[in-house]
Amino acid sequence: MATMIIEGERTKAESGKTYEVRNPATGEVVDEVPAGDAADVDRAAHAAAKAFTTWSRLPANKRADILHKAAQHMLTKVEHIAPILTKEQGKTLLESRIEAQRFGENIAWFADLADKIHGEHVRLPDLTTYGLVLRRPIGVCGAIVPWNFPLTLAANKVAPAIAAGNTVVLKPASTTPLSTLACIEALIEGGLPEGVVNVVLGQATGEAIVSHPLIRKIALTGSTPTGKNVMARAAEGLKKVTLELGGSDPCIVLDDADLEGAARAISVGRFFNCGQACLAVKRLYVQEGAYDALLEKLVARASKLKPGNGMDKDSRMGPMHTETQRAEVEAQVKDAIDRGARVVFGGGRPQGGDYERGWFIEPTILEDVPDGARMWTEEVFGPALPVRKIKDLDEGLRLANDSPFGLGSSIWTTSMAAAHRGVEELEAGYTWVNALQIAHDELPFGGTKQSGFGKEHGVEAYLQYTEEKSVVYGGI
Ligand code: NAD
Repeated sequence: MATMIIEGERTKAESGKTYEVRNPATGEVVDEVPAGDAADVDRAAHAAAKAFTTWSRLPANKRADILHKAAQHMLTKVEHIAPILTKEQGKTLLESRIEAQRFGENIAWFADLADKIHGEHVRLPDLTTYGLVLRRPIGVCGAIVPWNFPLTLAANKVAPAIAAGNTVVLKPASTTPLSTLACIEALIEGGLPEGVVNVVLGQATGEAIVSHPLIRKIALTGSTPTGKNVMARAAEGLKKVTLELGGSDPCIVLDDADLEGAARAISVGRFFNCGQACLAVKRLYVQEGAYDALLEKLVARASKLKPGNGMDKDSRMGPMHTETQRAEVEAQVKDAIDRGARVVFGGGRPQGGDYERGWFIEPTILEDVPDGARMWTEEVFGPALPVRKIKDLDEGLRLANDSPFGLGSSIWTTSMAAAHRGVEELEAGYTWVNALQIAHDELPFGGTKQSGFGKEHGVEAYLQYTEEKSVVYGGI
């Protein structure tokens, strides 16, 4: 049975309760884990507060050194961790390897910053005094993570937090705790001191983290309704919040675009991780002259995405993570069809054999999806793509921005002027121009509108795990 990790110790829930983690491809039990609650969060928060007193005072270069060694050790375990992630989440082994690798790289990227970001010296008008701005860690930080990218989204929070000298209480999604435990165990084996990162498990631990008085900042990745709830509860404790929430990224393809490149990016952007990605091409707007050719290329690519158990070498797309999640996407697709949309590809479940054991779904492309359909107005968190013909860029931009969300966006064109308009006018935290929708460690990533606020990745994320303190030295 798996355990939580509090102050470096493997521990059960105080209540003794447990629950099962199941494989979305087979329904089989992968492991049994503790169902923690507020009592376990309290233990973890105290352990993190105790560790903070030493971790935050370590010389920054020493902290960087410890994190680099821990990350390097974790990276030697990628082949051990990837199958654990596939079994609990469903994604293909290739996707799991990429994700586990990204976890270690992210820790190392922020370790590099630990001794390179400084405060400031400020001249004051009275020459017998001078000012300093210290940049200090915040304290104990809560990290709450969803199930779609359990490792990268945990690293996005843990890495900048601990590099800046904070300590963490981390809560993975209830259905994907095992690979996260394996990553944190590997960091501890690699030298991360006990109590710097504590992992609590179970649905009830989320709310307990948000309301615990020792926890000073909450970083949540999750749905927009969860974000609103967490922000309201965090306000009661005046905690800082970073909210990475839902998205419905538009992609605009103009007549002059590189259609082969666009088709590849859209296919990866929509179908990677079985479409369960926050940054994903979720609404496609294609100019009339490119429409038929692009659709043909997209169908050709979708037809190669064989759904299957992520552990099988020939699977190109794993199952949906849960039955509920699949039902939700199927209902969104049905709503579009009921309103008159046409299925260009997929639209159902693969049938027979092992497909009956898991939450499999076909990659799906729809056209003529009417205005107001759920696929346009809601986040579609699965491999289904609505495509719409547009006359020109003006129409594309108008439709792209007609969404409550503002996470990612992309535009494909060879016109510098059109690209520039996309960059200026698309309402989103990220715009890719003629490029694959990949979030880079170097660039701040986060949403606008109902997609939340605050940044992960980049120097900006590190800064958000620090606070400034002004100091005046007098009598000189
Ligand atoms: P979710 O909001 O249901 O859960 C996310 C996490 O929050 C889980 O660990 C859950 O246990 C916890 N949680 C739920 N309610 C809580 C509460 N009241 N207090 C504290 N914690 C609580 O989301 P999900 O279904 O696991 O993930 C899918 C959603 O995440 C999608 O909307 C997706 O777009 C979003 N997401 C966003 C990003 C991003 O970076 N913007 C990345 C990935 C996923």
